[in-house]
Amino acid sequence: MSDCSTDIVIIGGGLAGAALALLLRKRRAVSVTLVEAVPLPISNEVPFTPSFDARSTALSAGTLAIFSQLGIVDALLPYAADIDVVHVSRRGRPGFAEISASEENLSRLGAVVENRWLGRVLLNAVRADSGITVIAPDKAVALTRLEAGYKVCLESGTELVCRLLVAADGAESKTRDMLGVGAEHHDTGHAALIANIGLSQPHKGRAYERFVEDGPLAMLPMTDDRSALIWTGPRARIEHLLALSATDFLAQVQEQFGQRLGTLKSAGERVTYPLILTRTFAQALPHAVIVGNAAHTLHPVAGQGFNLTLRDLHLLADKVCAAPNIGELAPLKAYVDARVSDQALISRVSHWLPSFFRIQTGAVSHLRQLGLIAFDMLPAVRSRFARKAMGFAND
Ligand SMILES: Cc1cc2nc3c(=O)[nH]c(=O)nc-3n(C[C@H](O)[C@H](O)[C@H](O)COP(=O)(O)OP(=O)(O)OC[C@H]3O[C@@H](n4cnc5c(N)ncnc54)[C@H](O)[C@@H]3O)c2cc1C
Repeated sequence: MSDCSTDIVIIGGGLAGAALALLLRKRRAVSVTLVEAVPLPISNEVPFTPSFDARSTALSAGTLAIFSQLGIVDALLPYAADIDVVHVSRRGRPGFAEISASEENLSRLGAVVENRWLGRVLLNAVRADSGITVIAPDKAVALTRLEAGYKVCLESGTELVCRLLVAADGAESKTRDMLGVGAEHHDTGHAALIANIGLSQPHKGRAYERFVEDGPLAMLPMTDDRSALIWTGPRARIEHLLALSATDFLAQVQEQFGQRLGTLKSAGERVTYPLILTRTFAQALPHAVIVGNAAHTLHPVAGQGFNLTLRDLHLLADKVCAAPNIGELAPLKAYVDARVSDQALISRVSHWLPSFFRIQTGAVSHLRQLGLIAFDMLPAVRSRFARKAMGFAND
């Protein structure tokens, strides 16, 4: 058994855990230990973990600005496709809305990157930092509250003593349970299906969000003339789509999506995710904080989960590192107080949008159509919405 003292222990080396380790080190020379349950590859290899998997992530302009502060944006952009326009429409109805980078005077609205490349860039930066110790594969199995911190016992027998413990181990966080904090889980009965779609014509940086009968269907621009499909709907429907042959599946996508990207050429591997929305009952305790999916898991309709988390982590790192005593409660509470309204707004919109577009009654249907058309005609409203979605926190 080895015993090790470190300022901060982060349980979970996924998107949230890896990003937080870098943000903390950028601000202060704290020692950070990152514990991840699954094996991580050696330097420069592309990982495949529950966080860095087959998905692609739409990174907002705000997220790219934070990555730029971390010095990792140049390593990321060769694997990323810019989002220049977001186009929203509803199948079978006239009217659509568009948000464009040129209208917002930006070089891009955001960028889409495959999670595995994102993982490679984040983990390379983590490994390059001598102040971050990575322990993987390993898991926390017991916590003991100390006067000014926690003792964390790992499955391997290693014991870590820290002043701040961070739970970043996903929606089913065992660390959150061990801290004695409950969470609300709402099973939507829906699932998301993802696949990379080969295109016969360039996507020109256009991201599409199309509301079809079952739910939202997004096609996000990727490198190499591909789009990342995210189709959400009732679980039985998603299981049916998963069971189709590649040809029949592609025909379904084409029929529901339409011709805006021309004839779709090919569909890659399909993977599904159950949509269970989670919200922790507390985010901050003395010497402990709960972040990322462990704190809030959202519907992926607007591609906001990680972007919201990164805004959380950016402020959390500021508060933790500015405090004289790492892990003291007041700055952790100040962090939560400053973040709850953004968290509540983004999770409300993400949960509400798919249901709103599913309701079939006449009045709501007309309102929805009018809403889309009005939205497209009102540049000021569109601009405010776009800036919020891009993660510019003060808008
Ligand atoms: C289909 C889909 C599409 C999405 N698209 C977008 C998008 O376009 N834009 C966006 O902003 N967000 C998107 N999201 C949301 C985004 O994926 C999440 O916000 C993000 O994964 C949260 O990261 P996390 O590190 O908190 O949790 P996770 O990704 O769940 O990672 C948790 C990590 O903890 C590890 N772990 C688990 N248990 C333990 C343990 N006991 N000990 C140690 N380690 C442990 C896991 O192995 C994993 O590495 C999408 C989500 C889905 C489902």
